[in-house]
Amino acid sequence: MTGSPLVAGVELGGTKCICILATGPDDIRDEIRIETRDPAATLDAIHDTLASWKLRHGFAALGIGSFGPLDLDPASPAFGTIVATPKPGWSGTDLLARARTLDVPFVLDTDVNGAALAEGRWGGAKGLASYAYVTVGTGIGVGAIIQNRPISGLGHVEAGHLRIPRLPGDTWPGSCPFHGDCVEGLASGTAIEACTGKRGGTLTADDPVWAGVAHALGALLHSLVLTVAPQRILVGGGVATSQPQLLADIRTRLAKSLGGYGATAALMDMMDSYVAPPQLGPQAGPLGAIALAQRAA
Ligand code: ZN
Repeated sequence: MTGSPLVAGVELGGTKCICILATGPDDIRDEIRIETRDPAATLDAIHDTLASWKLRHGFAALGIGSFGPLDLDPASPAFGTIVATPKPGWSGTDLLARARTLDVPFVLDTDVNGAALAEGRWGGAKGLASYAYVTVGTGIGVGAIIQNRPISGLGHVEAGHLRIPRLPGDTWPGSCPFHGDCVEGLASGTAIEACTGKRGGTLTADDPVWAGVAHALGALLHSLVLTVAPQRILVGGGVATSQPQLLADIRTRLAKSLGGYGATAALMDMMDSYVAPPQLGPQAGPLGAIALAQRAA
């Protein structure tokens, strides 16, 4: 990526944070992992790393991709804070106070929007202007990029919490504390563990739970296709990667659900490339922060 400026990024996660200094995936100058503890200790450690990089190397901008939910409305008094998260101690945490003292332009967005932008720039959605990125892990995150920009307005997209028609006969109430049987309440790693008593990665491919998971994710993708009109949908995250058969099942269910309607008729013969795995793996998060920083630079 010659010509891209040197920038710093922070992926703020529930269990670990990654600070990264890079111009792109082929030119990572430094990468440091910091355990996520209480907000002050975690953000202080991140700030020390960034301040040291600034002094030694200089960088043109900072990108922060964080777990959420986040207040991303610049007009809001709570702009840049984590909003009502179930993660103990983190609700109301200001993620930007320390960043402002670095005296560089910065961008804050959700970790999933950052990862989506990185996949668009260097990974599975390269060259596309409008696409969606779905990560199925502990929760279900959706990054929706339209014309190269993450959708924002009333907060950020939270399509993992869409309500969907249930699989006939499936009456399990779901695990989402807010909605019960939303997509995340039915198909996330948390939901799978609550439903089966086992972690998703330890279940066999023929476990009956996967039909409900694929159904919920197929319904989520149906809604994304018809609302976001993405040119591709990437489906990744720990649950999806631990069960490679899931993607094929989701494609089949999506095709059936769309029923060849309108522009989606063209998808029927290209489902394998339309619903595809992401390509950056665990680097999507840190590179997402770099992609956000380069938007600020
Ligand atoms: Zn929900």
